[in-house]
Amino acid sequence: MLSNIIGLESAKRQLLAAFNHQRLAHAYLFTGEEGLGAEELAIEMAKFIMCSRPDKTNSEPCHTCSNCRKISTFQHPDVHYYFPVLKSTDNSEILTMLEEKSQELYFRVKVAGGSLHIGDQDNPEKNSIRGLLREIGLRSYEGNIKVFIVTFVEEMNQESANALLKILEEPPPNTLYFLTTGFLQTLLPTIVSRCQLVKLYKIKSEIIETALQTKNHVQIEESRIIAKLADGNYATALQLLSGDLKNKRELMIGFLLGVVGTRPSSIVEAVDALLAENKKDKAMVIDVLNIMATWFQDAFYVNNLQSQPELLESFVINHDKIDRVEKFISNFPRTNLDLAINEIEKAVDLISRNVYLNLILINLGLQLRKIIFDPKN
Ligand SMILES: [Zn+2]
Repeated sequence: MLSNIIGLESAKRQLLAAFNHQRLAHAYLFTGEEGLGAEELAIEMAKFIMCSRPDKTNSEPCHTCSNCRKISTFQHPDVHYYFPVLKSTDNSEILTMLEEKSQELYFRVKVAGGSLHIGDQDNPEKNSIRGLLREIGLRSYEGNIKVFIVTFVEEMNQESANALLKILEEPPPNTLYFLTTGFLQTLLPTIVSRCQLVKLYKIKSEIIETALQTKNHVQIEESRIIAKLADGNYATALQLLSGDLKNKRELMIGFLLGVVGTRPSSIVEAVDALLAENKKDKAMVIDVLNIMATWFQDAFYVNNLQSQPELLESFVINHDKIDRVEKFISNFPRTNLDLAINEIEKAVDLISRNVYLNLILINLGLQLRKIIFDPKN
């Protein structure tokens, strides 16, 4: 069932049931956090609808017919894909991104800080809402249906939103709209009410694990760690995969060694080392901290589930480093693990809210040192 899409079973069932009973709505609004696969699901659904020889029993497009191939490469004249760009983004950049996405379906296509522009009145650009309007006015080329995939619809100004609303209020026949958003609350209620909602939920860790092994050829141990860290989000898993997990774990351990170091300056040195390696990349630092949180989480499980080895086995994330976790516990038995995890989560939150990186990490190091050596302080 739309096998290129990882998880999202209930969303797939909802769409496929509607299609199979010839009850597709005019417009669907996919909601759920970014990275779950909303855009990707829209693309695969468009393929299934337009495929010239679909496998109806298994609800699978053939992936090889001319329609499937053109949709996968964003060259189908009746399937249009819209995403946020900057005014300065030129056409070749857009094409390069789409090219990347045609290679890796889950590649994120969105220009940071961009929006869905209304477009020039006289000469609307292709990737704009007026471009969409013009496209609607043209006859379909190959099939008798046109599909418009409009992603990140929260990134619209009032004018764009109103223009889109007009389209949704009176959709021309044989047009189908797949909109996606991670921020349902910020949309015009009138837009939301014109669409069927398709809710996307976090993906089970086992499903991500299997996908990493079969689609991305990741070793079992590594797939397990990544799947746990990805927290139900396959795009996050792919980011972790490309971001060199091994290196991040080494950095995490380096940081912890600094925290428990005997010299007063060791925390500052550990922070410097972490930032030098990451070139102050916030996302990388957040990954390292999340990995650190799993370390303390594992220590907690090792402490509390010794008598239930099967449960321990299924909960622990850093399997291959479990001897180091055990050693940590025996060296620092007074560590308040809950408190440590709490401090790390606080630091992650502050970093994502743009507080000064260096300061947060030094403060985190100091807090952890206190927590590890004497939780009563
Ligand atoms: Zn096909």
